[in-house]
Amino acid sequence: MTRNLPDPSEPWLTVDLDAIVANYHAIAARGPGAEVAPVVKADAYGTGAAPVARRLWAEGARTFFVARASEGVALRSALGPARPAGIHVLDGCPAGAAPRLLAHDLVPVLNGLDQVEHWSAAAPRGTRLPCALHIDTGLNRLGLRPEEAAALADAPGRLNRLDVGLVLSHLACGGIADHPMNPVQRDRFVEAAALFPEARRSLASSGAAFQTEDYSFDMIRAGISLYGGGPFDAPDPRIRPVATLDAPIVQVRHLRPGETVGYGATYSVDRPLRLAVIALGYADGVLRSFSPGGYGWLAGRRCPLLGRISMDLIAMDVSEVADAAPGQRVEMFGPNLPIDGVARQAGTVSYELLTRIAARVPRVHLGETPE
Ligand SMILES: *Cc1c(COP(=O)(O)O)cnc(C)c1O
Repeated sequence: MTRNLPDPSEPWLTVDLDAIVANYHAIAARGPGAEVAPVVKADAYGTGAAPVARRLWAEGARTFFVARASEGVALRSALGPARPAGIHVLDGCPAGAAPRLLAHDLVPVLNGLDQVEHWSAAAPRGTRLPCALHIDTGLNRLGLRPEEAAALADAPGRLNRLDVGLVLSHLACGGIADHPMNPVQRDRFVEAAALFPEARRSLASSGAAFQTEDYSFDMIRAGISLYGGGPFDAPDPRIRPVATLDAPIVQVRHLRPGETVGYGATYSVDRPLRLAVIALGYADGVLRSFSPGGYGWLAGRRCPLLGRISMDLIAMDVSEVADAAPGQRVEMFGPNLPIDGVARQAGTVSYELLTRIAARVPRVHLGETPE
């Protein structure tokens, strides 16, 4: 189902919600018995958190993760009272954050003993506040060190205002198949999580869910592979492409040998060349490192990008496409140019490619989108 398409003279990010649903089930199949909790931080990696979360709720998702409290507030409102999801905030409960978390029924992922104190102090007398506990097992980003977790568990008085429903940790090398650090972190996680036997356990993100060994425990926190990125930063046949970035040709030009293309005159023409100028630039989120070396997809062909990418325009060699004309849409990534390959060529990862797509690029959602 396709609703009102935006202006055809501008770039679009098309998001296939049916493909997200297929990926959700492909991830669920990796951990039978584990809940798949969609990670919808950064506007669901640029794909649109509201429609994505509503659609995944309809597929059975009941727990969601965001990074910031403000994202949690927006998600709570997008889901509405008819969808009382558990919304976990990965940044946890910094000083002063508790009132807003409480007001919107958000569950902080407590990342340190200071956050344990802040959240406990916010508990109304005689109540326990729900929370998750993040234990750092080697990433050294957020979370209690295992010895801090042990000290906390040994002093139950410090936990008597809290209801720890989930213990989680995050792998440093989950996105690398069979990396030896993964089982090391899993062993540390099992040991630390045993201190909180009532809590559910979650270790896996997308990459971890696709390891040869099982990392799924009670919950998989799934991000990039919902959105079409391969779990190991490479295209994966188990994951369907989700997002397509395309933009129309504004003008086709014929260049002669000796001319140059774009700012800095970095590309010199050495043969008669047909050039398409595309309505897409770094202000739309296309990294400047896409060119040279990258491609656009037109009429069944990969066409080389030429010269520097500018703010609103990209030049592409369409010498091989005889009938290239203004208005034709050029794919920058999507089903024909997989995001993992495009990202690698540009020196980055699919995560950055997706989350950089600018707000000025309209998102077009395909598939059933519950209101
Ligand atoms: C972003 C994030 C995830 C999701 O990771 P993907 O690799 O996108 O699946 C899971 N857990 C934590 C703690 C995160 O920050």
